[in-house]
Amino acid sequence: SKPSYKWRRVLLKVSGEALAGDRTQNIDPKITMAIAREVASVTRLGIEVAIVVGGGNIFRGSSWAGSSGLDRSSADYIGMLATVMNAIFLQATMESIGIPTRVQTAFRMSEVAEPYIRRRAVRHLEKGRVVIFAAGTGNPFFTTDTAAALRTAEINAEVVLKATNVDGVFDDDPRSNPNACLLDTLTYQDVISKDLSVMDLTAITLCQENNIPVVVFNINKPGNISKAIMGERVGTLIGG
Ligand code: UDP
Repeated sequence: SKPSYKWRRVLLKVSGEALAGDRTQNIDPKITMAIAREVASVTRLGIEVAIVVGGGNIFRGSSWAGSSGLDRSSADYIGMLATVMNAIFLQATMESIGIPTRVQTAFRMSEVAEPYIRRRAVRHLEKGRVVIFAAGTGNPFFTTDTAAALRTAEINAEVVLKATNVDGVFDDDPRSNPNACLLDTLTYQDVISKDLSVMDLTAITLCQENNIPVVVFNINKPGNISKAIMGERVGTLIGG
């Protein structure tokens, strides 16, 4: 029988911004390698890991919509395609160190990746493979945070681990207020009513309705990804 850790199956959300690292390129291979190594260390323990990747390091639909006559849906499809690039990069990095990894896309690109099939995704996880969900929800007007919440609910993962470039959620903007405090825990209602920019409302309410806890943590601190996946306290825990 498998040893018992806090989480059995997790969903790691990696934003495009987190993948960009120091931003000399769209993707920092040091970051993808760190993700691969830390994920490898926990899958070896039997913890199942699914990943949703963002695309904001390459293209964000909302900031392009309107300019040059681009309608929102077209801009968002380009954004979703950007997440596929990140997913393939991450998959190649994972497989370079021997982690079996499958990419599933929310719309078909069958020469490149599997289509999203829930039961197949779960089967991959049960076999110890990492599954990377790409192309968000497949629908314009949504975000990859919402895709993370949705896939978590669908595959019965126990938590969304949101990897960012900040330590967690603060009571004020730490860049302008040096006395801003990192919050240990928050309720969904705090996030919604205080308009804390943790996740968009669609994503956070989906987590709330399905009692999915969210951990917001800093991907740039070595060891943090594996700690978050093992259920050690890092960053801010949103629940209740
Ligand atoms: N997107 C979308 N539907 C989805 C997920 C993403 O249309 O379900 C598009 C949207 O244009 C978004 C872009 O893909 O700006 C990249 O995703 P996101 O901004 O969520 O990435 P992140 O902020 O995590 O890097």
